[in-house]
Amino acid sequence: MAPPDLSLLTTDPWDGDTLHEECGVFGIFGDADAASHTALGLHALQHRGQEAAGAVTFDGEHFHSHRGFGHVSDNFKAESVVSRLQGHAALGHVLYSTSGEIIIRNVQPLFADFEFGGLALGHNGNITNALTVRQELVRRGCLFQSTSDTEVVIHLIAISQQPTVEERVIDALRQLEGAYSMVALTNAAMYGVRDPMGVRPLVIGKLDKAYILCSETCALDIIGAEFVRDVAPGEMVIIDENGLRSVKPFPSYDSKFCIFEYIYFARPDSVCEGSSVYEVRKKIGEELAKESHVPCDVVVPVPDSGVPAALGYAAAINVPFEYGIIRNHYVGRTFIQPTEKTRHLGVKRKHNINRAQIEGKRVILVDDSIVRGTTSTKIVDMVRQAGATEVHLRISSPPTAHPCYFGIDTPEREQLFAAQHDLDGMTKLLGVDSLAFISTDGLYRAVGHAKRDTDNPQFCDACFTGEYPSALTDLNAEALPHQLSLLTEGRA
Ligand code: SF4
Repeated sequence: MAPPDLSLLTTDPWDGDTLHEECGVFGIFGDADAASHTALGLHALQHRGQEAAGAVTFDGEHFHSHRGFGHVSDNFKAESVVSRLQGHAALGHVLYSTSGEIIIRNVQPLFADFEFGGLALGHNGNITNALTVRQELVRRGCLFQSTSDTEVVIHLIAISQQPTVEERVIDALRQLEGAYSMVALTNAAMYGVRDPMGVRPLVIGKLDKAYILCSETCALDIIGAEFVRDVAPGEMVIIDENGLRSVKPFPSYDSKFCIFEYIYFARPDSVCEGSSVYEVRKKIGEELAKESHVPCDVVVPVPDSGVPAALGYAAAINVPFEYGIIRNHYVGRTFIQPTEKTRHLGVKRKHNINRAQIEGKRVILVDDSIVRGTTSTKIVDMVRQAGATEVHLRISSPPTAHPCYFGIDTPEREQLFAAQHDLDGMTKLLGVDSLAFISTDGLYRAVGHAKRDTDNPQFCDACFTGEYPSALTDLNAEALPHQLSLLTEGRA
């Protein structure tokens, strides 16, 4: 028997058919329990990155750091780790690596010593001209330590001729394109910034006198902090011993928040840009029902991410909602590696049929998206095997036909199911009686707009429309070193 293909392994090597958020950040300034609160905040953001976690703290004199592969609970469970991370300020990060280069030097926060002191940096997003900028920096003599796009920011700060740290950070960021929600920690302050389009979320919270900057409000809830507001697109906030200050150092752009955060990436208990993610998902389900309902006996979600949309769908048509598929919540970690004989069991490892809710019924199956189509095919097959008389698949996103270049790991276009097949083709390949995706306008109605503004869309929706809101300089550049060399290192 051929050995398993270890090159394909991620934290969950059975599952190559989901989209992954690439990162989450959590920073806190002015808190006696900065490290513990950061570990808890990262735990709440675990869905944004499961392959590595790290934190840097500052105690007024020294920086302390801890980074490791795996989940937050693996890295911060030891009392000795948290007690070593001394200080009143901390910055943490969870990472999902896209390139397979899961090396410790890519695990954030990145840290560097400058003439003004130390600076730790955590990033959520993707810089679309990072390779182009990196090539120029290398030509000028910069020595890169990682393959992370975030490292270009460190070097741009290092070579900036601006007089203050704040101006050097702004100078660096002005040279970048793409999506970035970043938090930086220095000896004197914590900085939070969102790119001018505000593609990825970043929120401000408060816990007593301490300020928090983090990716989602669920990370505030877990430590009992109050939500203050979102960092605005193109805004930089500076938090120091005098409190919080705001500057708008970038040219003004129209907001292009990632609409997929509402559909799938953000946690349902988070509030993004003033809207409850859970409520938006239910509304998407309602819109989907209005657009594409057929007679049925039961509405069944593909758990967990399909649940709120299925609830909205069932309520809209007054048909029972049932958990016809049960998800095993303990499969995120690898306990055995798949072999050729067992890899096909991946979906069963995660989902099992609740037969009594399916057998003899016409089923509306609700899921959030179709990526490669492999998981959906297997789930539909499981539902049929359980005795469903009809299976109608409803998807709470438009067809995902284009890759994301703004911080979500998506397969190349050739591997995206919706890029390769029309609706009829997909319906046949999936083996369903009918298939419908929410329309783009239906999605926009669910997030509070009458329709999509085709001249200037209110959100980034490029993975559905192919209309990217920012330049893709690296993608369009010729002769860039897409494979960066770097010594491999052992896993921590
Ligand atoms: S391309 Fe899709 S996933 Fe990426 S930022 Fe835009 S809407 Fe979000």
